[in-house]
Amino acid sequence: MKYKVMGDGDPIRLFVGGLHGNEWMDTSDILEKLEPPTVGSLAVIPVVCKEKYVSTLKESYYRTLGKPIIQAVEELRPSIYIEFHSYSKQNQKMLTGTDRIHKTGVPAYSQLDNDVLLGSVSPIIRRNYFPVEALCLSFEIQKKNPISREYGSKIARKMKECLSRDHFIKKLKKRYPVQAKKVIEDYRDFYGL
Ligand SMILES: [Zn+2]
Repeated sequence: MKYKVMGDGDPIRLFVGGLHGNEWMDTSDILEKLEPPTVGSLAVIPVVCKEKYVSTLKESYYRTLGKPIIQAVEELRPSIYIEFHSYSKQNQKMLTGTDRIHKTGVPAYSQLDNDVLLGSVSPIIRRNYFPVEALCLSFEIQKKNPISREYGSKIARKMKECLSRDHFIKKLKKRYPVQAKKVIEDYRDFYGL
């Protein structure tokens, strides 16, 4: 599978959606509609895999279904990497609950407006393929919720103009101070920075 690159030069961003199962239904459109960034470049993979569902927390994901992502990361070396996932309403508590770290080994998602969630990507790709200073995020859009999807789309349009991790943190602090604090803390606890 090939990715599409828009714009050129640094910073290099890679956005991926439809990572597994039927998630593409709520995320691929968002990526397909994106225009080239004002500065730097943006590569997108709107659909990684439409069939099977394997969690990105599983070691096998990035070796099998997610292989196109790894190929793109190795070729492009993006400094900004964002996954767009979707979730069912009934899983919202599980994703944002403080016990997520104990149950899955990864920090809970933060709740943004319109039921969009913000979290980190799987440690399997984060630790093995990105330097500490890279910005790696995962957004979760609520399935079958047009308002959530529209907000996810707005976030994607903002994120394609993001210049660096520090730039993102600065913007997030202004709009979502509580969530920004959690993002910084999780990052420090998880990646030791
Ligand atoms: Zn997912």
